[in-house]
Amino acid sequence: MKLGTPKETFAGEARVAMTPDSARQLQKLGYDCAIESGAGVAAGFADALYQEAGVEVIDGAEALWKAVDIVAKVREPDATELTYLEKGKTLISFFNPAGNEAGMEAAKDSGANVIAMEMVPRISRAQKMDALSSMANIAGYRAVIEAGNNFGRFFTGQVTAAGKVPPAKVLIVGAGVAGLAAIGTSTSLGAITYAFDVRPEVAEQVESMGAEFVYLDFEEEQQDGAATGGYASVQSEEFRNAQLAKFREIAPDIDIVITTALIPNRPAPKLWLEDMVQAMKPGSVIVDLAAERGGNVEGTIKDEKVVTDNGVTIIGYTDFPSRMATQSSNLYATNIRHMMTDLTPEKDGQVNHNMEDDVIRGATVTHEGAITFPPPPPKVA
Ligand code: NAD
Repeated sequence: MKLGTPKETFAGEARVAMTPDSARQLQKLGYDCAIESGAGVAAGFADALYQEAGVEVIDGAEALWKAVDIVAKVREPDATELTYLEKGKTLISFFNPAGNEAGMEAAKDSGANVIAMEMVPRISRAQKMDALSSMANIAGYRAVIEAGNNFGRFFTGQVTAAGKVPPAKVLIVGAGVAGLAAIGTSTSLGAITYAFDVRPEVAEQVESMGAEFVYLDFEEEQQDGAATGGYASVQSEEFRNAQLAKFREIAPDIDIVITTALIPNRPAPKLWLEDMVQAMKPGSVIVDLAAERGGNVEGTIKDEKVVTDNGVTIIGYTDFPSRMATQSSNLYATNIRHMMTDLTPEKDGQVNHNMEDDVIRGATVTHEGAITFPPPPPKVA
């Protein structure tokens, strides 16, 4: 079978779902590989690099989609791409199955099989295909770099002949995959780093990375918001008030805030309110990684950078992985390659879409003319 990757059509998207390296691995699974001409350029992979790796370069998206049995891409398909789906084809990409009714209907009607990368179950066996985590890791790292780029001082403290420089104080709100990556980046740059999460079990991880966990003055254990299998749930009013009071207390002292707090299937909780932004020093920077889901910060504008009247920069970009397109393409293409490994147990270049396999079943959102989303809960943890 032939597996191909088109150029991403979403404005500004620089990632690509196949790299020359991943193509070499896919060929070892028995697949012929194809790429749309120019698809890898924005991520640093010229057509010639693919050709050297044995990949056929095809001009134009439609020709690419027509020529292949399996399409691997990053973003959910646009309206034109949906018309290229047909019975017998498999699409592997982010698909947003819960918020993409038209896409789901079109995919079902076409008879194509669609594997949605955000639906890969978050179990140990599937970690190598977990594109949400690989992209969140990059977003967390890049959020710190972006903050530094907008911050007028060093992260680390220095004593120089020209004067003493205090270290920056960075607060990371939400210590999931993106938050932990941000903590690691911030501490390695030498900032005094604080982190908060509603899940108390992450405190040890936070501290092992050289950051300080922010505890609340709250009589219950700090687990009110952490009820559902490793994910946060909605907090009680009392817990939320304790959290806001703590943030309010430390806001004047914090130079950089990076927020990553999300609750599955809910809008992002508002945690850094207008008065906290106002309490920060001029020159402070906030990066709101939850901007796509409405933002954790009052004043975030999605996809924009704003400077408040008191001189605080609030960054609401939602394209952090694309801003590091070489790295994110490498990791995403590896996630795809691992998915293909599971879909190709015989390494014979033939997809075995085994709906008995928890991971494949969990990620499949349309199969042979039927909608198969949401999946049943996985059998293994
Ligand atoms: P996420 O992106 O859904 O949320 C980010 C973080 O925000 C979470 O840590 C959450 O607890 C926190 N949060 C929510 N509300 C908050 C609030 N009001 N204040 C402060 N923090 C708040 O989470 P994620 O990064 O996708 O990961 C969440 C969990 O899933 C973690 O336990 C992680 O280890 C686990 N996980 C497991 C696997 C795997 O086993 N394959 C893969 C990825 C993640």
